[in-house]
Amino acid sequence: MTRRNALLRTHGLVKEFRGFRAVSGVDLSVAEGTVHALVGPNGAGKTTLFNLLTGFLAPTSGRMELDGRDVTGFPPERIARLGVARSFQVTSLFPQMTAREHLELALQAGTGGGRRLWVSDKRMRAFTGRALELLDEVGLGRLAERAAGSLPYGQKRSLELALSLALDPRLLLLDEPTAGMGLEDVERTVALIGRIREGRTVVMVEHNMSVVGSLADTVTVLQRGEVLAEGPYAQVKADPQVIEAYLGAEVA
Ligand code: ADP
Ligand code: MG
Repeated sequence: MTRRNALLRTHGLVKEFRGFRAVSGVDLSVAEGTVHALVGPNGAGKTTLFNLLTGFLAPTSGRMELDGRDVTGFPPERIARLGVARSFQVTSLFPQMTAREHLELALQAGTGGGRRLWVSDKRMRAFTGRALELLDEVGLGRLAERAAGSLPYGQKRSLELALSLALDPRLLLLDEPTAGMGLEDVERTVALIGRIREGRTVVMVEHNMSVVGSLADTVTVLQRGEVLAEGPYAQVKADPQVIEAYLGAEVA
């Protein structure tokens, strides 16, 4: 992997919580246009690393570069403005607001005005067309007028994905996009991520190894805050150290 096509790089990234190293010297290189999966046993540091990459946590030490630019310690809004979006959590949805209204609000916020709840109907209508397109893209076209709170779980997750796409990110970060889903929703989400990755770079934390196998170009395995292995799925899956790390854990 050449330096030039790395969209995101970390150098010796460390995050300590009261002396405990949750992320311990991680060098990560995410190539532009790829789907890059972060996997590892519980407690390996995946979520902490994810929060470092999105600026939700500042590293204790180490550096982070986005497209060659040093972004170490940038707050989440600043990272977001550089084209990085993370999936929203279900809990951030407003139960009474329709799917379309959520998208309109996200699109309006993306224009730089901040997330203002009280924007005139007329101004919001400027975003309706794009909102409906994004809902179509994630398979929610027919549910545009449904209150978010009434959507089944899998479709709430699709709505979160549409919300992150509203920012038209170059880099999309997904934390366990299929967590808690039944088989049917998992398959739908894999197909969906397969579509939305076009023209983008995706980093995802994912437990489901068949999801990783079908989507990821590169897999980084974390263990106790360190990179244990990295490479294409087939190679990583066959790595004796990885098998060892997963002994007793589920691995497909
Ligand atoms: P994973 O997502 O891979 O399961 P996490 O990144 O959530 O792992 O956690 C890695 C380690 O860091 C765990 O041992 C966890 O208990 C610890 N940890 C995570 N967040 C905090 C925190 N805010 N304060 C203290 N310890 C934390
Ligand atoms: Mg986690």
